[in-house]
Amino acid sequence: MQRRRPSPALLALFVAGCGGASTEQPTQTFRACDGAPTFVEPNPAYAWTPNAIRLVSEELAPGVFAIYDRDAAEHGPAGIPLATSGGFVIGDDGVLMVESMINRQLFCQAVALVQAETDTPIRYVVNTSSHGDHTFGNTFLPDDVQVVQHTKTADDIAAHFDADVAFMEANFGEDQGIEEIEPVSADVRVDDGGWSVDLGGVTVEARHYGFAQTHGDLFVYVPDSKVMWTGNAFVTEEPGIPWLLAGNGAAAEVTLAAVRDSLPADAIVVPGHGRPLTPAAMNFSIDYLRAMIGGVETAVADGLDLEATVAAVALPDYQGYALWDWIHKQVNVPGTYAELNP
Ligand SMILES: [Zn+2]
Repeated sequence: MQRRRPSPALLALFVAGCGGASTEQPTQTFRACDGAPTFVEPNPAYAWTPNAIRLVSEELAPGVFAIYDRDAAEHGPAGIPLATSGGFVIGDDGVLMVESMINRQLFCQAVALVQAETDTPIRYVVNTSSHGDHTFGNTFLPDDVQVVQHTKTADDIAAHFDADVAFMEANFGEDQGIEEIEPVSADVRVDDGGWSVDLGGVTVEARHYGFAQTHGDLFVYVPDSKVMWTGNAFVTEEPGIPWLLAGNGAAAEVTLAAVRDSLPADAIVVPGHGRPLTPAAMNFSIDYLRAMIGGVETAVADGLDLEATVAAVALPDYQGYALWDWIHKQVNVPGTYAELNP
């Protein structure tokens, strides 16, 4: 219902030169991607298996592409976790990429999807948060690509890189190439006022709306096309729910509602992990947060302990996500409970 358009075109490896403004520049070289990919079977122990993922691109507006998991149309509505989504915007002077993915293989798939559309060089990569599945591919960027992050994201990566690697290896595997990731400093540090760039004929904004899933979330927006990337703050469609890994669900709810309300109804929203949707598709996440927080508030007022609170805040109307028992019962409810019981 909230699907915006029919199924995506699968990756068609047109040779460079079929799109973009320049046909004279040599194709940008990514030496990290010289090797052939090695696809593996999904490991059910992982939230999703990076080296099992096939990414596709979809043109949402002229020169504006989403990149997402090939299985998104099937797995998203079924509540099955999806790989990180991203995308790219092609200007006359350069390409801006959203997210660099979790490892070499997914980074290189994303670069191949860009180079299938244009030989205009990638000039910027915007990371929507510090999380490794959005940033680790920065390791493989050549020096002429500028990394754009919120100042708090850049500082988080500098301070907590080892912890993020450990979290990613615990949930996405120790055999997925994460061990070769190195921290990369931001070239452009964005403050709460946001940032924008003219790529040549198209402007891209990086907006900050306040705490969403981290305190350094950026939302990437192309005003001319009304396309927005949300990162993890809006992780995926119903029945997926927000991952409050840094707590603060009340602020997350306010921010998500503000993001949704700032967009035209016919905007296209690319979630952190899923296929392109409408702004109205964010309602499920916002309503879930309100119901979860309200339920925990009631439980606390009734004097329930944590175990009884988890049992009381069952929220049957919001179940269906494959990671419900982890994210709702072990992350979102306990975190909110702790905040309301200082
Ligand atoms: Zn993510």
